[in-house]
Amino acid sequence: MKPLHALLLLAPLAAGCFQNKEADLVVHNAVIHSMDEAGTVYQAMAVKDGRILELGPEREILNRYRAKERHDAAGRSVYPGFIDGHCHFLGYGLNKQKVDLTGTHSWREVLERTTAFARTHPGPGWLLGRGWDQNQWADAEWPDNRALDSLFPERPVLLQRVDGHAAVVNSAAMRAVGLDTEAEVEGGLLMKRDGRPTGLLVDNAVNVFQRVFDEADEATKRKALLDAQADCFAAGLTMVCDAGLDTGTIALIRRMQQEGVLKMRVYAMVADAPGNLDHFAHHGAIDDERLKVNSVKVYADGALGSRGALLKAPYSDQPGHRGLQLATRAHFAEVAAWCMAHGFQMNTHCIGDSANKLLLDVYGEVLHGTNDRRWRIEHAQVVSPADRPLFARYSIIPSVQPTHATSDGPWAGERLGPERIAHAYAYEDLRRSMGLVALGTDFPVEGIDPLQTFRSAVFRQTRDGWPEGGYQPANALSPADALRGMTIWNALASFTEDELGSLEPGKRADLTVVDRDLEKVDAAGARRARVVATFVNGERVH
Ligand SMILES: [Zn+2]
Repeated sequence: MKPLHALLLLAPLAAGCFQNKEADLVVHNAVIHSMDEAGTVYQAMAVKDGRILELGPEREILNRYRAKERHDAAGRSVYPGFIDGHCHFLGYGLNKQKVDLTGTHSWREVLERTTAFARTHPGPGWLLGRGWDQNQWADAEWPDNRALDSLFPERPVLLQRVDGHAAVVNSAAMRAVGLDTEAEVEGGLLMKRDGRPTGLLVDNAVNVFQRVFDEADEATKRKALLDAQADCFAAGLTMVCDAGLDTGTIALIRRMQQEGVLKMRVYAMVADAPGNLDHFAHHGAIDDERLKVNSVKVYADGALGSRGALLKAPYSDQPGHRGLQLATRAHFAEVAAWCMAHGFQMNTHCIGDSANKLLLDVYGEVLHGTNDRRWRIEHAQVVSPADRPLFARYSIIPSVQPTHATSDGPWAGERLGPERIAHAYAYEDLRRSMGLVALGTDFPVEGIDPLQTFRSAVFRQTRDGWPEGGYQPANALSPADALRGMTIWNALASFTEDELGSLEPGKRADLTVVDRDLEKVDAAGARRARVVATFVNGERVH
């Protein structure tokens, strides 16, 4: 009697239980890397109203939930949505609104590419291009705008040379800025042929048009943000930390998110300028569902490639030159005090060892000891071993871009010499001192692909597998730490860890589906890895 009795009791119970819970989405047949503290791996999860309800074994989740949508991951890996910890989201999108003229072989090819671009990007706004280099053309002649005028009699066109120090414009562009072709431009040149302006501008004459690059109109910015979003979703990114935006752009991002067209999460660092800081002093931080603003982006020095990074001792390949400090110590201290007073996070671009030391000291003076303000050093590219403990002493997060290591690798040693190069791009050393690193790409300086961040961090190799054995492999991150750096550590660095960065009940269902298990691949396997689906708040966006 006993077994029958038990069955009778169980039967209605099981029937009542079968799919008695509602979900919007069930993801199953997956290897779900939750990235929680214990590193738990699940097979399935249920999502409702954009949040994770439950994770568990395949059968349990499928039996329990009736879902509007099911995603069969076909045994692939599901990660918390990848976050780019430092990039220029708008800048990347704006670049996409310009004709790419790099690698052109003649002025004629420049005109062809410009005309083709204009067909897919109709006016009435400016037509901008960038990247030509007459030294790569057969005749090596400076261009003349005659043909440009006949192709574009009305629409203003400006095509910058690869270095930005020269540009060619059409007559409509000169009219649009009211350029007086008879006037002298101090520190610049307006080229003429037989008394007629050719439209070629050199040095400061290009700056007359600076406003055009700086102030894209709203329609262009909207298109830029949407184009950037599409590429980022395809690459598996669900949040971008834009390293320096003005209040106008931040307001536009907010409007586009409220309209529902911009679904990307944005952690917007406010560009260090008086107008921007005054605005946020007045209006306070922003903590929307997809937009967070509570940090300031500051520049301490320049870049290593152009010898602008501020070093303690001269460049190995330029005696007597130590680089550039972009503002006074007093200015950095003033911004630090402002950030303390307004509860903002301070994120400073520091490449050289001297810039890093300077800002670690400035931070230390206001932060004193350990704290939960999570101030960041962006790049932390060359850090003296003696200064490294300062990160932990003041709880400062190193925000680094592994692709820089592999992109700069071929020439960085010449700039720094053998001793300093050993402490450059030292991501594992930094991780060990502070306990975490935030990972990003700095796109569009580098590509947007977070999987390249993974490859550069773990295998220390470019997409083409350079160098063999990896660049300074002692500073490689473990696969698990690289993934943490792309997810939960980036969430911590942006104060979003309660909502993002790991897959746990109650958190947002931001997911990146990758065609293989990144913790089990070798370098060749990592090169073949692809993102196959991206979800934000449980909504499939790629
Ligand atoms: Zn940057």
